[in-house]
Amino acid sequence: MTRRPLVAGNWKMNGHRAASAELDALIAAGRPDADVLLCPPFTLVASFAERASGSHVAIGGQDCHAAASGAHTGDISAEMLADAGASAVIVGHSERRADHGEDDSTVRAKAEAAWRAGLTAIVCVGETEAERDAGRTLAVVGAQLAGSVPDAASAANLVVAYEPVWAIGTGRTPVTSEIAEVHDALRASLASRFGADVADGVRLLYGGSVKPANAAEILALENVDGGLVGGASLKASDFLGIIAAA
Ligand code: PEP
Repeated sequence: MTRRPLVAGNWKMNGHRAASAELDALIAAGRPDADVLLCPPFTLVASFAERASGSHVAIGGQDCHAAASGAHTGDISAEMLADAGASAVIVGHSERRADHGEDDSTVRAKAEAAWRAGLTAIVCVGETEAERDAGRTLAVVGAQLAGSVPDAASAANLVVAYEPVWAIGTGRTPVTSEIAEVHDALRASLASRFGADVADGVRLLYGGSVKPANAAEILALENVDGGLVGGASLKASDFLGIIAAA
């Protein structure tokens, strides 16, 4: 099965309106051989979606609440993201799991909310450094995958991002054999739960200190179907270097 690569940028809590120049540069660079998704902060989702309308760049959110609406001060629903023009949402990023105490069942509810609103859910999993050192990487990401992905997963509605917590924003990455081992295990887990057709179609992204200099080597791995990129997605020139490698 040929999976179209996906390169997704996660701007986290970065970006004011003037940063639309970076989006304009991505659009102007032309359509690559990969899907491109940019997830700016909530304040920019609607304006970026409008700006990117008709281009090859899709816009996504970085999180959503599990409910469609209600008394949840400061939260955003998946329906609101869809209404603003988003087509996807990241759920279960390790910074959400750590900063907001989100567990697998919360992430699963958010993924279900994403699907209810017609968005693709990018479900993040990843081990801490202590868990890797203890030899628990596959057990940890396997449990996160099982607990965070709802039963109605399909190749169209689910993307899984493997992001070792210790590699995010640190400049450190696992060696390629370590990335391959986890991605192979994720694909096998999806196959045993959802069947080969779904598992073969779901895109598995690697995230954690991806940059133009290491993207080609990582994205060439058989079960790596793209990247989830934080810091290096903030500047179009860097992000385009990664997109070109996909
Ligand atoms: C991320 O937070 O999703 C991420 C991969 O960050 P960075 O690329 O900066 O490590």
